[in-house]
Amino acid sequence: MISDKMQRAFNDQINKELYSAYLYLSMAAYLEDKNFKGMANWMHIQVEEELEHAKSIYKYIIERRGRVALESIQEPPKEFASILDVFESMLAHEVYISSLINKLADYADEDNDRPSASFLRIYIDEQVEEESTAAELVEKVRFANDNTSAMLYLDTVMGGRCCKKISD
Ligand code: MG
Repeated sequence: MISDKMQRAFNDQINKELYSAYLYLSMAAYLEDKNFKGMANWMHIQVEEELEHAKSIYKYIIERRGRVALESIQEPPKEFASILDVFESMLAHEVYISSLINKLADYADEDNDRPSASFLRIYIDEQVEEESTAAELVEKVRFANDNTSAMLYLDTVMGGRCCKKISD
């Protein structure tokens, strides 16, 4: 059985993962509007991953005989200053998510909750990957920014993202 404190923290994390999906869906809509369909496709896959993160925490709470409690999801920004701003915002958001996952891991340690510590390991690893991917995209978009051909090439490459990985 999961403690009330851990249950609350995991429920909060479900909310944050759903917000991540909502934020990335809003970014996809912005990219779609700018006709960067490949980048929008990339973002849609990111949305699916975030929904999977939320559902896997949902499942974990239930497996620990806890109670899932869903709350309101914050409204994401609708507008972005530029495509670079989209990816910079994504990177900043992933750094924030990492801090929340680390906090959850701290709580698990404080509670001596080994199953939660074990469950969170995949999320800790995942965040290393998410930050690294976002940082790489920021660099690439920054590099290509004023060059239309480079941006269109990047759009085409990002349009090729098709498959989720198991750990995502
Ligand atoms: Mg996530």
